[in-house]
Amino acid sequence: MSLADDSPPIHPAMLLNRTSAEPDIWVVIGSPAVHVNGAPLDTGIRVLRDRDELRLDGHRTFFSTETLAMVVPFPGERPTLCPRCKLQIIPGSPAVRCPRCGIWHHQSAEFPCWLYSSTCTNCDQPTAIDADFRWSPETL
Ligand SMILES: [Zn+2]
Ligand SMILES: [Zn+2]
Repeated sequence: MSLADDSPPIHPAMLLNRTSAEPDIWVVIGSPAVHVNGAPLDTGIRVLRDRDELRLDGHRTFFSTETLAMVVPFPGERPTLCPRCKLQIIPGSPAVRCPRCGIWHHQSAEFPCWLYSSTCTNCDQPTAIDADFRWSPETL
């Protein structure tokens, strides 16, 4: 989860992650001075959805659940097939989960499968590691 640049201090509101289950549920808690998609937060609490607009004291920001690609030890309990090279990704080996479609790819010196192409094998997610967020309000 992230807030766009020029984030207002979301204060007195705060964001809470309600669950560790997927998909994550985020709620904003704050005073009626906080507006979500133009509506005052008059109940003091609201579940946020991806791309909701938050406004406070003339500042504006957007909530996004988009995540960045990261190389992590493959957390699966069983090997899964890498869509790029069609070989198994062994649990614990360096891998990247596409933040868009969720497909795992190898990513190591031996198997640079995620970075092999400019986009994911399965979707159009750019493969740059720690790439800028794809979505920003300007592209709407
Ligand atoms: Zn591979
Ligand atoms: Zn993908």
